[in-house]
Amino acid sequence: MAAFDFERVLLVEHWTDRLFSFRTTRNPTLRFENGQFAMIGLKVDGRPLLRAYSFASANYEEYLEFYSIKVPEGPLTSRLQHIKVGDEIIVGHKPTGTLIQSNLLPGKRLFMFATGTGLAPFASIMQDPEVYDRYEKIVMVHGCREIAELAYGQRLVRGLPENEYFGDVVKDKLVYYPTTTREPFVHMGRVTDLIQNGKLFADTGLAPLDPEHDRVMLCGSPQMLADLRVMLDAMAFTEGSTNTPGSYVIERAFVDK
Ligand SMILES: Cc1cc2nc3c(=O)[nH]c(=O)nc-3n(C[C@H](O)[C@H](O)[C@H](O)COP(=O)(O)OP(=O)(O)OC[C@H]3O[C@@H](n4cnc5c(N)ncnc54)[C@H](O)[C@@H]3O)c2cc1C
Repeated sequence: MAAFDFERVLLVEHWTDRLFSFRTTRNPTLRFENGQFAMIGLKVDGRPLLRAYSFASANYEEYLEFYSIKVPEGPLTSRLQHIKVGDEIIVGHKPTGTLIQSNLLPGKRLFMFATGTGLAPFASIMQDPEVYDRYEKIVMVHGCREIAELAYGQRLVRGLPENEYFGDVVKDKLVYYPTTTREPFVHMGRVTDLIQNGKLFADTGLAPLDPEHDRVMLCGSPQMLADLRVMLDAMAFTEGSTNTPGSYVIERAFVDK
């Protein structure tokens, strides 16, 4: 089997001057678990230019969706942000990643903490009916600087209760908590602060984090991940991996160079 597929762009949506999303065709032989990522990109000067991208669409969809940053001088995204319907995207055939349910011990509540494009793997997980079967509550906390940067996640979450197969269970189990750091909004503050000062729990009526029953997935900036890791370790959460499931798992939303 080839290491890569060439897929066609079906839809491009620009959310802000820094964020966009796009859909592509999908090779039906591509298998992935919700929450995983693959290498995707463009052919530049005849060679593949690839970067890690989380699948934002669920693994049962006929299409693939990605949620992307636009880095003005970024080798890939300075080009990728200009893609149009019909263009060709390279999609790697080896999905991988730590944000999968088998890396977590069974639990009662699943907390997903994301900043920026770190929402992408959770967009996929929030569309996974099996995840709703596994937990009593699914809590999605998404932090961005400005309100407009929340729009992709907000639209997705608003549509989930309408899903004909699992809409009812979403209404019952999904708690969505978008928050901003720079622009006044109904919820404000950094994800780490909201956990530490208890505001997340006061606002949602949920009990504070408890390592015995809660499972946590993190995807965000290197700083957010570092801060949250220290916090979770101090609360006696244990990091899970393929060989040893634990009470939390981490994936970087990007690597700072
Ligand atoms: C496991 C993993 C999954 C990823 N999934 C996604 C995804 O779903 N969507 C996505 O947009 N990116 C994702 N990334 C980042 C992605 O791989 C690229 O870095 C990004 O597309 C920019 O590529 P580039 O070549 O334009 O610039 P690069 O040279 O790769 O990056 C330049 C600089 O831009 C900043 N940067 C890069 N990506 C981001 C980002 N997402 N948010 C904020 N700042 C960033 C960093 O400071 C980086 O040093 C992921 C990275 C990893 C490691």
